[in-house]
Amino acid sequence: MRALLAAADIFFMNENEAGIIFGGAGAARVRAGQLLFITQGAGGALVLQGAHTAHLAAEPAEELDATGAGDTFCGATLAALCAGAHPQQAARSAMALAAAMVTAVGPAVLFAHPSTPAATPADSRVQVNAQQVERTARLVAALPNLQPFNFTGAHLPPAGHPAALEFFFAATLQQFGFWSARAGRYTRPLLAAQGGQQRKGSDYLWQAYWSALQAAPDFVSPAQQAALRSSTLQAVFHADDGSQPMPALRLHLQQARAYGSDLCALAATPAAILAHANKQPLPLAALLQSLDHVGGYKEDPLRKKSALLALILSERPERWLRAAPAEQLPPIVDYHLQRMCLRMGLVNAGDPLLAAALSARKLLPAADEWAVRSAVYSAMQLLAQSSGRSMAAIDWFFFNARTRCPEMTAPDCARCAMDPVCAHRTQLFQPVLRTTFY
Ligand code: SF4
Repeated sequence: MRALLAAADIFFMNENEAGIIFGGAGAARVRAGQLLFITQGAGGALVLQGAHTAHLAAEPAEELDATGAGDTFCGATLAALCAGAHPQQAARSAMALAAAMVTAVGPAVLFAHPSTPAATPADSRVQVNAQQVERTARLVAALPNLQPFNFTGAHLPPAGHPAALEFFFAATLQQFGFWSARAGRYTRPLLAAQGGQQRKGSDYLWQAYWSALQAAPDFVSPAQQAALRSSTLQAVFHADDGSQPMPALRLHLQQARAYGSDLCALAATPAAILAHANKQPLPLAALLQSLDHVGGYKEDPLRKKSALLALILSERPERWLRAAPAEQLPPIVDYHLQRMCLRMGLVNAGDPLLAAALSARKLLPAADEWAVRSAVYSAMQLLAQSSGRSMAAIDWFFFNARTRCPEMTAPDCARCAMDPVCAHRTQLFQPVLRTTFY
């Protein structure tokens, strides 16, 4: 079994087997590029993607006959992976199917089930408002000249720059966490002067990495990112006044090293990943699946940073990624989008306790954040489908509209393109949770 495990790309075992092989599920380790799923019965499941481990809570079930539950999990996970799902989402949907399967004798539920359950099971506390999505879709569909951003500008490498591809692979995974909290509440976004100019959040990050690349051309190489030192990253992020304003610096360092370590262990480069993707019938799906093995990208089941990188690779003047016509980007769910979707009523936070915590900008438990984020993800999928617009164009529209609906000052509804359809729940705020996902 050890030899088989060493040779396999994807492996399944239960907790008892993990005890024999590793001395316990918590001690399980796999190599870069390998997936291991460990089922833990009522304890849920562990998903190992190389050095990263995620725990998924079990689906509640009225168990009548547990025979075949493990096989159901295994088969459904593999089917979802083949359909392009992230490993954690594949396991989540498989757990839902296994939980349904054990409620009847034999495999009756599997034959009766129309399809694999949704990979983002609804938390009833936050729901997509389908009518509001439809209204917004009509507005978005009628917008003239809605074009995606091409990711060029003074704070980014110019088209054709020899290190531009490595730059975007190394810098996009750093697009997260540009805000601070104190005493359990959100306090402010990252805003600091850099090169004589006030820059906020993602712009600050792009400029910092671009300056670092100009100073040292191999700064963004996987080997350099793997060996990145805290002092180097502090210098990269320093503001004009000498302060270091980047929140969660430790997480940025850890993500850079995870990225570099995985690419070095896989003997992969951004150019090789891209070349492999472009040779496949579905290049976008192939890219996203490759990134499920790369630190800094692989951890998020909703693939926010992977989707953002895919968008950049598609829209830059170099047109690095050539997605098939039928391929659609996944939604790029960051905190701006969640804030706007809550205020616009595209999702309803019906639970009064959760709504109060969102309005008070309190740090949330991970399950509460997931309830909002997964609902926003579903709402954006529906919006793209109903409006007929590409996810890339919708993303750029919402990204720009966020300036009318900011974090620290009152929304400027009179000048906002969303005003005709907005629910104006202006007291609501994005989930406040420290994560490397967005
Ligand atoms: S109309 Fe007002 S509340 Fe609604 S998205 Fe625009 S700025 Fe925000």
